[in-house]
Amino acid sequence: MSNDILLEVQNLKVHFPTERGIVRAVDGVTFDLKRGRTMGVVGESGCGKSITSLSVMRLLQKPGRIVDGKILYHARQSETNASATNEIIDIVRLDADSAKMRSIRGGHIGMVFQEPMTSLDPVYTIGNQMIEGISMHRSVSPTEARAIALDMLDRVNMPDPKRVIDAYPHQLSGGMRQRVMIATALSCRPGLLIADEPTTALDVTTEAQILELLRDLQRDFGMAIMYITHNLGVVAEMVEEAIVMYLGKVVERASVVDLFYQPKHPYMKALLRSIPKLGRKSSARLQAISGMVPSPFAIPPGCSFHPRCPDFIPGVCNVIDPAVVDVGNGHLVKCHLYGQPKAPETANAPAARAAAQALAGGAQ
Ligand code: SF4
Repeated sequence: MSNDILLEVQNLKVHFPTERGIVRAVDGVTFDLKRGRTMGVVGESGCGKSITSLSVMRLLQKPGRIVDGKILYHARQSETNASATNEIIDIVRLDADSAKMRSIRGGHIGMVFQEPMTSLDPVYTIGNQMIEGISMHRSVSPTEARAIALDMLDRVNMPDPKRVIDAYPHQLSGGMRQRVMIATALSCRPGLLIADEPTTALDVTTEAQILELLRDLQRDFGMAIMYITHNLGVVAEMVEEAIVMYLGKVVERASVVDLFYQPKHPYMKALLRSIPKLGRKSSARLQAISGMVPSPFAIPPGCSFHPRCPDFIPGVCNVIDPAVVDVGNGHLVKCHLYGQPKAPETANAPAARAAAQALAGGAQ
């Protein structure tokens, strides 16, 4: 397995200035991804996982902007040639509309979205759209581009590719449109594929087919994949390691085995308790995570999970933002339970929690 770094995100901060104040959608996110590996980015809606991936692609919608940090992409001149020289590009420093960024977007990094219709133009055929993308990133004639498009449609197990290439998006099913998106994203042989909830809009049978397809293509093409998902089942099945995000911060990072069998952060433990398990009694209730994700305009002080945390330490968790600690084997946790002194239990936890919520502006 490769140890080459492909992508390094360092202290990334993304802000959305609004009339009510600044939303810190991504607040100091750091992680890296090696060539050919699979990483999950997990968390509830609004935790910043999609904003992180859109930042990597420089596709942030205004008023969102990157205010700090680096996104270093280690580009190979040829993704299929392991001895080709690397160029380290700081994506943050590029103009989002520059030729260089366009060559990275689509050429080096492909992306598949939850809803293909947001990316497919309804007035052009599938072939028109695929050929345009291939011609933009590869020095090939229109005839060769069409042949590549047909080959890719075949590689994603599209039924009747010769008919589909001249069809319009509305003439295809949701599963077929997602296959078109995957074929388009992979037609330039990217080093990294970002898959943002790629199966959420699909029925379970089609979801299973698309996940199997992505696994096969990753093995054949050797690209790295970043799965953005709230679905822990997809994480368990598809990735080698994962980062867990909460309110714009990475709170845990581990191999998928450690994350599921030895979760450390109380948020990750709560996420695991909230999903159904085979063998659990039918009368057993799922445990929802207490409270609500706080308003982005009233992020709690200290550890932002503290109003919902069953392990809350009064006087510590609501005051000090925890540091990231390595608990072994690169298993990283951002929590005061690991590596920092605990405050004495001078007040009972519920009362302290209520006080902290009031301090945070009643964020619930
Ligand atoms: Fe819970 Fe404190 Fe850890 Fe935050 S730092 S997750 S409040 S124990």
